[in-house]
Amino acid sequence: MLALLYMRKNLVIAIDGYSSCGKSTLAKALAKKLGFIYIDSGSMYRAVTLFFIRNKVDISDPEAVKDALQHIELNFHSRDYESHITLNGEEVSEEIRQMPVSENVSEVSANKIVRKEMVKQQQRMGKSKNIVMDGRDIGTTVFADAQVKFFMTADPKIRAERRFKELQSKGDTVTSLEDVFENLAHRDYADTTRAESPLTRAEDAIILDNTELTQEEQLDFALEQVHQHLPV
Ligand code: C5P
Repeated sequence: MLALLYMRKNLVIAIDGYSSCGKSTLAKALAKKLGFIYIDSGSMYRAVTLFFIRNKVDISDPEAVKDALQHIELNFHSRDYESHITLNGEEVSEEIRQMPVSENVSEVSANKIVRKEMVKQQQRMGKSKNIVMDGRDIGTTVFADAQVKFFMTADPKIRAERRFKELQSKGDTVTSLEDVFENLAHRDYADTTRAESPLTRAEDAIILDNTELTQEEQLDFALEQVHQHLPV
């Protein structure tokens, strides 16, 4: 019903925030409610990282990075508002969530050449569609003119527990809660301190701390904000 209300085709809802804050859960729920397309920008950096690991690409060599990017084709297939990503035609949505990728993605995403290419592709996706995109630099760089921006945060311990449970539910019996906590802390530090598009709250982003909020409460809050910022 709500989907029909937004006839314009280039509306953007940007969701940024720390690692494992529930950005994608909220983004998917919002997209479903509003009839927008959900795009997980982090999965693009993760898929590039997977390619770099598999092909032993030397991240410190700009020519090697440029060459590798030319051999990477990323595509999204949205099914049931889940964001499935393919890397050169191969579905990699599960593999990119595993620890080997999580442990290397910050280094890859800090690379200027990689970021330039990803941002270009992300901006193209928002040209003719209404989208909800989540990431680290969506409201500050990719879509600095997004109509609605959220900045999500939550207690680091709660975030680690949530991600740990998610990994366990997917059959990961190796990674400990401590490993997950450390990985999140490392990625938060790397993402907020890097030179290229560091994670930071856009001045006009609405802060959403979900430490003590249920998913329903977050969605209600976000929808309320969307309706205020995007009157139909
Ligand atoms: O969102 P997710 O945790 O899957 O993102 C993985 C990593 O990709 C982040 O830790 C961050 O380094 C990088 N990223 C980024 N810019 C984005 C989205 C993700 O640098 N827009």
